[in-house]
Amino acid sequence: MNEVFTRNLTAWGKQNRRPLPWVGQKDPYRIWLSEVILQQTRVEQGLPYYERFLALFPHVHALAAAPEDQVFKAWEGLGYYSRARNLIKAARVVSKQYGGSFPASYDGLRTLPGVGEYTAAAIASFAFDLPHAVVDGNVQRVLARFFGVRHPVDSTLGRKTFRELADAVLDRRNPAAWNQAMMDFGSQHCKPRQPLCSSCPLADHCVALARDWVGELPAKRPKAARRTRYFHYLVLEHGGNRYVRRRDESDIWAGLYDFPLIEKSQDLEPGELLREPEAKSWLDDGGWELRESSVWYRQALSHQDIRACFIKLSSKSGKLPKDQDWQALAPDKMRKLAFPRVVARYLDEQG
Ligand code: SF4
Repeated sequence: MNEVFTRNLTAWGKQNRRPLPWVGQKDPYRIWLSEVILQQTRVEQGLPYYERFLALFPHVHALAAAPEDQVFKAWEGLGYYSRARNLIKAARVVSKQYGGSFPASYDGLRTLPGVGEYTAAAIASFAFDLPHAVVDGNVQRVLARFFGVRHPVDSTLGRKTFRELADAVLDRRNPAAWNQAMMDFGSQHCKPRQPLCSSCPLADHCVALARDWVGELPAKRPKAARRTRYFHYLVLEHGGNRYVRRRDESDIWAGLYDFPLIEKSQDLEPGELLREPEAKSWLDDGGWELRESSVWYRQALSHQDIRACFIKLSSKSGKLPKDQDWQALAPDKMRKLAFPRVVARYLDEQG
């Protein structure tokens, strides 16, 4: 069955090559950039970011030398900011320790910050033609359905099984074209919803199709309950400036900018919020007056929903909020900084 799978999928790959700028690339920098951007991101959404990064940072030395704020700004809207932080760290390692050349082995690539099994296999096979199978969600879906594997893809056993299966079917003479075909087949043909089974070159041997499991595979573990968090941002204006700070918490938004934030377990009206002790400690003695509050904005993260509202206050004295390194910035300076997506959307709508 492995031979049929490999032969038919290789033929499909030759006929269905996608005209994307990173397909067929041999430059490890461009491959790495595209793979990092496309993790948890659709191709249509990632494409302009890829082009923007290449225009701003045409080679790894340029990315390594760039100020972090500039890289975060270029990344703004993609989410999962740990990827941008690792991008900067890895670029600096390649630039300084390797003289600008990416390590030409899977194990060497794995030593770079943020480069896991998937990215290392992609660079090793696409740039250096090394026989390493990439295993992403598309590949897992194709393998689960064709071979009828029912282990959850997010379980330890599932990850091990799909890795071994991907290695077993890999075309070792042509790993770059093979990996591209597997990923494209998963995203274009054996799609999550409404896969094209009636025109599938693998249909005769597909276990899921024969057993009516297509809608059930790939299996996943039950999801944990989602949590909703309510962020009340204080937009403090004084003399045309607003106070922001660079977040230094070790969370997913580290390195981004935001406004004074009061988190509550429920959504509070501005009047209620400003009577809270936290709000009073921020605003005490500053002569801050309520101007307006926004609608609620929403941002969905992987395990939680963020609801955010923005409460605008102004003051003649402009006494700084306590406890943090606040910067009073004019709107044109703020536009050069990166904010969490929910804050960036509010700022965009403010003009
Ligand atoms: S027959 Fe359907 S489920 Fe099976 S590999 Fe083809 S598209 Fe996927």
